[in-house]
Amino acid sequence: MNNAKSGFALGRRRLELRFRTLTLSSREWIAPDFVRVRLTGSDLAGFDSLGADDHMRLFFADGPTESVEELRAAPSREYTPLAWGEDWLDVEFAVHGDEGVAAPWAASAPLGSTVGVGGPRGSMVLDGEPDGWLLAGDETAIPAIRRFAAQIPAGTPARIAIEVRGAEHELALDAPVPVEWIHRGDAPAGSALVAFLESLSADDRPGEAPLVFVAAESSIVKPGRALLARWGVDTAHAVVKGYWKRGEAEYHAPH
Ligand SMILES: Cc1cc2nc3c(=O)[nH]c(=O)nc-3n(C[C@H](O)[C@H](O)[C@H](O)COP(=O)(O)OP(=O)(O)OC[C@H]3O[C@@H](n4cnc5c(N)ncnc54)[C@H](O)[C@@H]3O)c2cc1C
Repeated sequence: MNNAKSGFALGRRRLELRFRTLTLSSREWIAPDFVRVRLTGSDLAGFDSLGADDHMRLFFADGPTESVEELRAAPSREYTPLAWGEDWLDVEFAVHGDEGVAAPWAASAPLGSTVGVGGPRGSMVLDGEPDGWLLAGDETAIPAIRRFAAQIPAGTPARIAIEVRGAEHELALDAPVPVEWIHRGDAPAGSALVAFLESLSADDRPGEAPLVFVAAESSIVKPGRALLARWGVDTAHAVVKGYWKRGEAEYHAPH
């Protein structure tokens, strides 16, 4: 593989694993079926997330809890820290219907609800400057894509492709290149992104040795890896990950 040409590495860093108890303090609908929530609390002192695709585990109790142990025993799902400060943490949720725990909580839990946060426990940290970028995903990857996009210097070759249901689901995203919005319509989630990935030829590679991030419904993993092979991208310079799996609750992507 051509990693000799690349000017960057993705290195793993460990973070101290802490469990925090926070409060849902505000909710803002960014697009239909996509909501940003703010979690607040003094437990956030020292919170950090070094990698753009970090994840933390959120614990959703369905009512007030008496103890940390009770909250820790509540159902949990993985989410990306979008932005944070001393006592606040913003998280964006794809609201995919009434199924599951996390999406209905994000859509309708009363303000003031308690939520637990574990992690992030480790990060993949970008060291150096890729000479090109491909960021591709569905709604669940938007927070990670926002964080990666903020690291792309103006003028560096980049493609950002995001699958959503339709034009009304597109949203504002700060990036040095326009986002290519891919509409799946009523087709299964991931299928339009798979077609996009399969349409990219060797000539479409941004730069010589780009950083590639692909995350969406798990059907994108195979075509994502095939693209790495077509582009000669070392897997150490890429993250290709199923963020959820159709028909499976609480999916755990293989690491
Ligand atoms: C590293 C990582 C980071 C992630 N970051 C985010 C993030 O920042 N924001 C975000 O929205 N998601 C994120 N996800 C995805 C999120 O963890 C899953 O979508 C999770 O399954 C949602 O939990 P739930 O309780 O709503 O549904 P579950 O109880 O897990 O599933 C119930 C049903 O809903 C289906 N389902 C789950 N997610 C979706 C979806 N997005 N669209 C359609 N159907 C779905 C399942 O297949 C299942 O049939 C991330 C996942 C990983 C692995």
